[in-house]
Amino acid sequence: MRFSKSCSFILLAASLAACSPSAPAEAPKPAAAPAAPVTPPADRKYLLERVDDASVVQLYADGFSALPLKEKTLIWHLYQAALAGRDIFIDQKHRNALEMRGVFEQIIAHPQGVDAATLTEIQRYAKLFWINNGPYNNLTAQKFVLACTPQAFAAAAKAAAASGATLTTPPGESLDAMLARLRPMFFDAKVDPIVTNKSPGAGKDILLSSANNLYDGVSTADLKGFTEKYGLNSRLAKRNGKLVEEVYRIDGIYGKYIAEIVKHLEAAKAFADPPMVKALDALVKFYRTGEVADREAYDIAWVQDKVSPVDTINGFIEVYLDPRGIKGGWEGLVFYVNQEKTARIKTLATNAQWFEDHMPWDAKYRKTSVQGIVANAIDVVVETGDSGPVTPIGINLPNDQAIREKYGSKSVALSNVTDAGNRATPGTMRSEFSWTPEEAGRSEKFAEFSGSLTTDMHEVIGHASGKQAEGKASPQELIKEQFSALEEGRADLVGLYFIADPKLVELGVVPAADQDAVVRAEYEGYTRNAIVQLRRVRQGTQIEEDHMRNRQMIVRWLMANTKAVEQRTRDGKTYLVMVDAKLFRDGIGKLLGEVQRIKSEGDYEGAKKLFETYGVHFDPKLRDEVVERVKKLDLPSYSAFVMPKLAPVMGADGTITDVTISYPMDLTAQMLEYSGVKK
Ligand SMILES: [Zn+2]
Repeated sequence: MRFSKSCSFILLAASLAACSPSAPAEAPKPAAAPAAPVTPPADRKYLLERVDDASVVQLYADGFSALPLKEKTLIWHLYQAALAGRDIFIDQKHRNALEMRGVFEQIIAHPQGVDAATLTEIQRYAKLFWINNGPYNNLTAQKFVLACTPQAFAAAAKAAAASGATLTTPPGESLDAMLARLRPMFFDAKVDPIVTNKSPGAGKDILLSSANNLYDGVSTADLKGFTEKYGLNSRLAKRNGKLVEEVYRIDGIYGKYIAEIVKHLEAAKAFADPPMVKALDALVKFYRTGEVADREAYDIAWVQDKVSPVDTINGFIEVYLDPRGIKGGWEGLVFYVNQEKTARIKTLATNAQWFEDHMPWDAKYRKTSVQGIVANAIDVVVETGDSGPVTPIGINLPNDQAIREKYGSKSVALSNVTDAGNRATPGTMRSEFSWTPEEAGRSEKFAEFSGSLTTDMHEVIGHASGKQAEGKASPQELIKEQFSALEEGRADLVGLYFIADPKLVELGVVPAADQDAVVRAEYEGYTRNAIVQLRRVRQGTQIEEDHMRNRQMIVRWLMANTKAVEQRTRDGKTYLVMVDAKLFRDGIGKLLGEVQRIKSEGDYEGAKKLFETYGVHFDPKLRDEVVERVKKLDLPSYSAFVMPKLAPVMGADGTITDVTISYPMDLTAQMLEYSGVKK
């Protein structure tokens, strides 16, 4: 599972507050001594460029250089394994995607003689394609097309070829024939219009209506009576009228990429600690056999490795691309634990019992023995396939529910991604919805800190807290469709309640001098969000998404039951203003007591009434106003990241003596390099 991949970074920290209530309550092993924090230069560049509604942001991994050589070398090999599988996901997106990329990348690398206007348009298209790993928008699943003529595009390809471009065509096909074959994909938005279509309308099939390459000529009806042996890692195809599974493994489809991945994973093992070696061995075995039992063994080995300071996610993982939710999109991530940021999580986890004893709810709903959920703050070095250049900000794996229940899961917060996303976000969003310049200033100064702190509390002491009343069944069962929003609201409330507690100063988590401003910034930002988030619901008058519901509910409840928040208007614009932090916190405590009672008692009607009254419905006129204001600010809807670049330093005897990190600051250069395109 992953969190908030699709949102822009406006409410990033709050969006991360989505996680697994069922994560393991295992005590953390002592971490290695944290390296000295690295202070990035103040004038560092984050936002590199805008491409339509996407922003392109440079990702930094500041702690990398200070890692021991063994860990750097391990990361280097895993980094190569992540790059080796990149093209798999592009091919999974659409059967023509790699061919299409082959054409425009050659034109961009050999632009001599290409008409300038045509080149500019090809560059725009190429960037969108790279960002989205194919010709479909990540947020909407809709196809985007080239806005020049097919003739101009063909002329550009020929000019590039004359300048030394290598335009590879399939055996027996001329360049003109290939361009004609690919023309509908490049130019016609109506051909294969949607990559993943879960609701195509009455009488239409979800598989036939989805343009991805996870299925070839297969409809849902074909699956009746068919036993799928390789759910996650196969393509289903009709071959000579027969339904077959084409398995993703070393001797199956994508075999050439998988062989390369395996080579690098094998090389990584010499630099990994025993628990990780076990996981890498299991992963290699799975890539060789493709068998479900081997995937399960890998999941278990991976989740049991809770101590490695370096980790990787490499394989067919998330199922969002498949309208059936079965087939895994390939992704590769490599990261190391950010010891400094993880230290705070561990402090909260260690003190989880103190927080439990001070929860503002009836003592009978308090656990007598509680352990905080353990999660790591990590810094990403590279993300490819389904996880890059557009990246999640939080990940909780494995997805296999049976393994989660028996062995637990690992949660990671991608802290350098969150940080870069925040820093690249223009301040205009804050000032537009802040009642005073002071409020906007507080947000700029403290919101990132307060947001990540409440997120940690949400995760570590929020979900882990509280217990059911005597004899009550599980709350999921009793509270049904209202449960997720209620539970996310409960965890948010825990964060909002304790951020104002002197205990945080005592624990060294918040500087005493800053606490008032931190609390204010958090409460103001949370309040503003109740209207700012409406921009995401462009149709209808109801909020569906659980996190959005819980945030709406909390602010609207406070408005109805306390004097902490006021709705004001000025120059025809609506504002939600947090006017009294003490009243706000008192209200949060009271609401948290009630939400816990609802959960502990399994009070379905109570939950439903709470959300129906405060969390679901909104005024469409207010939404229209917000959408209009956001539109004027011209903010990006999503962000893509340029990854750091690693390079080994070789000693005279052929061993690696160091691994350097640099920041390309250029999406085009990085993508051409990844594709191996030479200028
Ligand atoms: Zn959560």
